[in-house]
Amino acid sequence: MSKRPMAEVGPMLECDVPPEMPVLPLMSTIVFPLGVTSLQVRVEQSKALLRDYSDPDNLIALVYSPARREQDIRPEELSKIGLAARVIRILNMPAGNVQVTLEGLRRVGIEEILRTEPYLEARVSCPVEKAGDPEQTHELVTRILRSLRTLSQLDKTYPPELDNIFSMNLGDPGLFADTVASIVRVPLETKRRIVETLDITERLTIVADSLEAEIARLSVADDVVRRTSEQMEKGQREFFLRQQLMEIRRLLGEDDPQEMLVREILERAEGLGLPHHVMVVVQEETNRLRYLPPASQESGVIRNYVDWLLSLPWSRRAPTEINLDEVARRLDEEHFGLEKVKERILEYLAVLKLKNDMKGPILCFAGPPGTGKTSLGSSIARALGRVFVRMSVGGVRDEAEIRGHRRTYIGSRPGKIIRSLRDSNSSNPVFMIDEVDKLGHDAQGDPAAALLEVLDPEQNAHFVDNYIEIPFDLSETLFITTANVLDFIPPALLDRLEVIQISGYMDEEKLEIARRHLIPREAKEHGLAETDISFDDAALTKIIREYTREAGVRQLERAIDNFCRKAARQRTTGYTGNWRFVEGDVEKILGPPYVLPDRQEGQAEIGVATGLAWTATGGDLLLIEALKMRGAGRVIVTGQLGDVMKESVQAAHSYVRARAEMLGIDPKQFDDYDMHIHFPEGAVPKDGPSAGITIVMAIASALAEAPIRNDVAMTGEVTLRGKVIAVGGLKEKVMAAYRAGIKTVIFPADNQKDLVEVPEPIRAKMTFLPVAFVDEVFQHAFAGVAERIAELEARAAKRRARIAARRRAARRGKAGARRGKTGARRAKTSARRRKPAARAAHARRIGRRPRATPRRAASPR
Ligand code: ADP
Repeated sequence: MSKRPMAEVGPMLECDVPPEMPVLPLMSTIVFPLGVTSLQVRVEQSKALLRDYSDPDNLIALVYSPARREQDIRPEELSKIGLAARVIRILNMPAGNVQVTLEGLRRVGIEEILRTEPYLEARVSCPVEKAGDPEQTHELVTRILRSLRTLSQLDKTYPPELDNIFSMNLGDPGLFADTVASIVRVPLETKRRIVETLDITERLTIVADSLEAEIARLSVADDVVRRTSEQMEKGQREFFLRQQLMEIRRLLGEDDPQEMLVREILERAEGLGLPHHVMVVVQEETNRLRYLPPASQESGVIRNYVDWLLSLPWSRRAPTEINLDEVARRLDEEHFGLEKVKERILEYLAVLKLKNDMKGPILCFAGPPGTGKTSLGSSIARALGRVFVRMSVGGVRDEAEIRGHRRTYIGSRPGKIIRSLRDSNSSNPVFMIDEVDKLGHDAQGDPAAALLEVLDPEQNAHFVDNYIEIPFDLSETLFITTANVLDFIPPALLDRLEVIQISGYMDEEKLEIARRHLIPREAKEHGLAETDISFDDAALTKIIREYTREAGVRQLERAIDNFCRKAARQRTTGYTGNWRFVEGDVEKILGPPYVLPDRQEGQAEIGVATGLAWTATGGDLLLIEALKMRGAGRVIVTGQLGDVMKESVQAAHSYVRARAEMLGIDPKQFDDYDMHIHFPEGAVPKDGPSAGITIVMAIASALAEAPIRNDVAMTGEVTLRGKVIAVGGLKEKVMAAYRAGIKTVIFPADNQKDLVEVPEPIRAKMTFLPVAFVDEVFQHAFAGVAERIAELEARAAKRRARIAARRRAARRGKAGARRGKTGARRAKTSARRRKPAARAAHARRIGRRPRATPRRAASPR
């Protein structure tokens, strides 16, 4: 298109613009009438436009486009109102860009885009502006002038007389609005709306509103700056003011609340008779408190710390003499049986009494739950006239839980030891630390080490909690620890402990404990008289055997609690008599029994061996099942068990394989069958390998298809060569077998010395079969072995007698002619003897009928 100077355009619209105009799209700026603006033009299209219309006489339409980049400009998105403008100057810049200075003239309506190439051209119109109500217009103009004044005060980048500058345009309110909008900082979008608004009142309103919004923004920013610097000064100012205030109050004889708080703390501290070194710290801390604002975080931290210092029993102690008779009396009165345990406790206390200090090993009561460990501890405390306090360290993994967090941590507090001491309100309580076998440790430090320091009499006179920071004297505290299983106590800790083992109770003992202690106590706790409730023996035995399965008496206590609740309920409904519960009542109150007898009387089974396990809760039966099935010689193990058990299974399988011939097992079975071994009850013994002989028995029984006696329980670790070696927890295991009604126990001969620990009444009722080799276990445990052996022996004896008779006859020389025959028969017999001897021995072991006559039968054990 050729250059078309205005003069040549021909007809003009009534607003003095040609009806068609080239369009220059604007993206980042808005030009107002009478405003002058400079733009950088980079797009080829726009440069072409400017080349054609560079003459100052030419008019071009400046139209706003919402596009962000020049290549995204779309004709249909352009504003419908643009501005006719004159090009004042064009400068060619380096890199081919063009800088153009334009002067805005008047609004034009963009009616239609006529062309887009080589640049945009549009048909335009003269838009008509709508004048507003004069009064309203005046009001808006005044508002704008007022805002301009404020603006020039708030923002020093505006000239001070901003309002005066604009007053000159007041004759044309529409132009006034345009000029203000072109000078002050308002958002681009608002500027676009101002250009497009033809209603003058509306245009003025937009300008007035946007000025006020700008003023609000500036005031907030101003406020933030002012407040920040004020805050910084405030701390210092408050400090000086506080000092002055204190001085003024002192002169006036008045009290400051912070000062009152400090005085109150000091008075309390003096009343408590704190040791001198603690008092010094309290004074130092309260001095710091004086100069801190009461609501400050630091003031809160100090108050909390001082509160802790004041609440600790620094010098509140019970008398320390030990009255052994009183302890003995209490222990006897409150605990049935446990004679050895009581004796050991008294010996321990006797030593402490003689030495007259608490230095010595620390007592550790070890045994299953519910065996009276806690209650022994509290009896000791009562007998000594001391406070009893308990704390559990089960699951504690972080040293800070024992020893506290430093005060610098937010929310820090002292560790468990100091917290328990505060609760006990005594500096020399009987302090029971439960579950020392369940201590954990991780990256946060080793709680066992912290515990060692607490328990070490050489160090604990100066025990320092991280939070408290002042040493606390624990040397007069009588520590007692408890554990279920000794094996899990950290060795360094175990070294410091004097262990007293408390094993489970027999049914008879439980019955006595219930009768003498649990029932009267439970009755009292339910608001009844001690004698209101009684049980007959059959009822208690039923509860013990069919409703509880435990080494201790916790479940039993809970069951009795059920009866007492029922009775208490009846009492409230007016019943005034006593209760005597009989066997028939048990099921009515407790529901159907939930402990089934471990083994049903009846047939011996193939592939099921009864082992004995030693678990954290005492002893338990461990039934191991083995099943052979066609396969490829794999060993499959299921059930809850650890690696040790898996290794035991492999070892057992190898052992049975080695003894296959002796057991009469076709060696091919090991290749043609898979062996599945299952530990059904999920009882994971803590001493894994002790299931060794049980696993061997289960596998051997499954492969040889020989049933195992179900009235025998066994325990023993097996070496690869078949030696049975000692295991732990024999006593607990025997008790478990006894509880389950199994009267015969196979155990390692090496453990024989441990049998003395089994209570005499139980020992008397049971049969113990010590074994040194697995082959002996086969003899004892395969069903029917004894009978078979007896039968074989009888037959062998008969045969021997026959042979002897024949020999005698031969010697007498009665049958010279038969000599040859006899010789032949003899030769045959001895040939048979050689091979079948092994067969018979095997039969003896597995309880099968031999296929040939044995030479000599071993006597049964
Ligand atoms: P532990 O601390 O060993 O888990 P507890 O001391 O809590 O066991 O004992 C559980 C309950 O059994 C307590 O009420 C306790 O008094 C009672 N108890 C345990 N053993 C005896 C006993 N030999 N004589 C009397 N009561 C006992």
